[in-house]
Amino acid sequence: MTEPNTDDPKQSILVVEDERTLALGIRDALVHSGFEADVAHDGDSGLDMATAGNYDLIVLDLMLPGRNGLELLKALRQHNHKVRVLVLTALSEESHVLQCFEAGADDFMTKPFSPRELVARIQAQFRRSASMSATPPPMLDLPNEIQVDLARLEVHRDGEVVHLTPREGDILEYLIQHNEKVVTREDLLRDVWHYRNPNVATRTVDIHIVGLRRKVEPDPAQPTLIQTVRGKGYRWYA
Ligand code: CA
Repeated sequence: MTEPNTDDPKQSILVVEDERTLALGIRDALVHSGFEADVAHDGDSGLDMATAGNYDLIVLDLMLPGRNGLELLKALRQHNHKVRVLVLTALSEESHVLQCFEAGADDFMTKPFSPRELVARIQAQFRRSASMSATPPPMLDLPNEIQVDLARLEVHRDGEVVHLTPREGDILEYLIQHNEKVVTREDLLRDVWHYRNPNVATRTVDIHIVGLRRKVEPDPAQPTLIQTVRGKGYRWYA
């Protein structure tokens, strides 16, 4: 499944994980698959590296010495909205996953997993759906003078700039491409998240939709653009 990328520079990944054997196993698997990878073993150095470095994706363990993963994520999203964040969680911490999505995580993976599984998930993060164009459309004009710049992951509303996470951008683009057609949660998990088994974690989709509505809907409490189609999924209607 590895797509050789001769044009682009190597994608660069930061692994923040305090279990050293696991962290190094992940790093080696990433390097073996053609990524550049750095490792941090605690939350504070992880945040320093994440803000100073120019990473494309951060693999973030939740339970860390010092600043924990959720705190790191919140601090990071204050000034970096474009980096993709994949959260690692133990089974017992799955209740934290919702908080992580609300704080701007793009994806999560539950331990235990093999480094190969994680690499496959990371490769999926960078893969665009077959139905998506190579470059996102230019400015999108929505009601109430809301404008969305998918290339920059920015929403301009009420004289302010609101940032979309990469995942929110992907979802929005997918909904728009299926204009007025019903998109199921399974469609989104398969085509946007690239999950092989889309029966897992459909709540993941709903949480991202809530976040997206907050940013692009004129009235997020009464969504008109991203409509819920009861028992089926969602539909873009602009
Ligand atoms: Ca840990």
